[in-house]
Amino acid sequence: MAKTEQTAENAQLKDIIAHAKEYGFVYPSSEIYDGLQAVYDYGAYGVELKNNLKRLWWETMTRLNDNIVGIDASIFMHPTTWKASGHVDSFNDPMIDNKDSKKRYRADVLIEEKAAQYEQSGEKARAQELLSAMARLLEAEDFAGVRDLIINESIVCPISGTANWTEVRQFNLMFSTQVGSVSEDASTIYLRPETAQGIFVNFLNVQKTARMKIPFGIAQIGKAFRNEIVARQFIFRMREFEQMEMQFFVRPGSELDWYKEWAATRMKWHKALGIPEEKLRRHDHEKLAHYANAAMDIEYEFPFGFKEVEGIHSRTDFDLKSHQEYSKKKQQYFDPEINQNYIPYVIETSIGADRLFLMTLCNAFVDEQVEGKQRTYLKFHPAIAPVKAAILPLVKKDGLPEKAKEIVEALKYDFNIIYEEAASIGKRYTRQDLIGTPFCIAVDHQTLEDNTVTIRHRDTTEQERVAIADLHARLTEACSFRRVFEKI
Ligand code: ATP
Repeated sequence: MAKTEQTAENAQLKDIIAHAKEYGFVYPSSEIYDGLQAVYDYGAYGVELKNNLKRLWWETMTRLNDNIVGIDASIFMHPTTWKASGHVDSFNDPMIDNKDSKKRYRADVLIEEKAAQYEQSGEKARAQELLSAMARLLEAEDFAGVRDLIINESIVCPISGTANWTEVRQFNLMFSTQVGSVSEDASTIYLRPETAQGIFVNFLNVQKTARMKIPFGIAQIGKAFRNEIVARQFIFRMREFEQMEMQFFVRPGSELDWYKEWAATRMKWHKALGIPEEKLRRHDHEKLAHYANAAMDIEYEFPFGFKEVEGIHSRTDFDLKSHQEYSKKKQQYFDPEINQNYIPYVIETSIGADRLFLMTLCNAFVDEQVEGKQRTYLKFHPAIAPVKAAILPLVKKDGLPEKAKEIVEALKYDFNIIYEEAASIGKRYTRQDLIGTPFCIAVDHQTLEDNTVTIRHRDTTEQERVAIADLHARLTEACSFRRVFEKI
């Protein structure tokens, strides 16, 4: 990306961050104390949007698939869980500090950024060579070699502009804390860095109690915590975030077919939500994690480039096997169709609710010139829009507010509705555009005569006259999750 282009893209992200704060979507955490890096809070419309996205994911998983059920496991887990999963020993990022700026970076990210620069200037082979060299060094845990690579590539700190680097060290991303009321009893436990392990340790509980037969899946939404070294790009990389993960248990040997199927299904889901095809791409992993025999990311083109939104991994039987070893409890399934006991293989789909939120916000953000005037609006799919309709009496008198409130009463049990009577109708339309409300319903004097209202459509600003009696059906038609589900 050329520098001017990059500046424009960053400006777009800045606009989106400012909009998110100004209109009640996302605020920095504990802002009155100047915030806490990489931790954010969701405001009045943000929480509605996030809840809608989570509910859409949950219902896609558990309602569209009669062989997927949900659980809600605790954030704290027995510490041996993280030994068995490999997180205690290998959930590390290589970090490096610049001695002049005192800023800390992920060594692999610095190298990836350099490779991206080569790629943008047309030097594809050079970029690939650099990434392969890094992968080899990381695989061999040769951190002195990684540092040499940074020096040889003349990578400098963007703040100080120098290459005065420390050595590269491994940094474990898990947060730890103590349980137990007195220090002698206390033992170290971790805040889970992924939700998946809560599913694995409950595999047999769920299989038996929900009487599931392979192939079947377990879905979960919950908080995860990672002490990220580089926490940038707004809610893209947070230290406290939410994951939506589904582990799909299959017969050994069938996992790569299921992997293909889930990769295709998840890609369709993103498109059904209104993300244009050209903004999505699939990135197959070359270097696989120790537990995987295939892995890919679904990437979205954020203002700062194509980045991972969702990971799909074929995790083999690594996790269940390891929990069996550490717990000394059999993690096997008896498959009546083939009359055999085995440890199932697992396909995982894993998406961050916050990253999905950011993708949705970036995709919805429209800032355009219409007839010489600036118009900003959020074109959310109506199924996930925080507010479905605003009911607006044209004036604050002549019985119009009363009539409008009757409409609110009729709709509020099924839809998130806003009633607003202050300011001119134009200003009220603009305000709803800024929070992405798909429909503004205006109540005027004609309403009192013939029980009709105008619906103003957010994306086109077109207006039409509709009978009050038809409003419920119109909103149901536009806002139902069915509109998304039908496209998956
Ligand atoms: P990255 O390479 O960006 O660090 P990852 O490969 O470590 O991500 P996974 O462990 O596969 O991510 O986690 C699955 C999903 O969880 C990611 O696709 C992303 O949507 C989300 N996620 C992971 N880390 C964070 C984070 N720090 N903040 C917000 N979301 C995250």
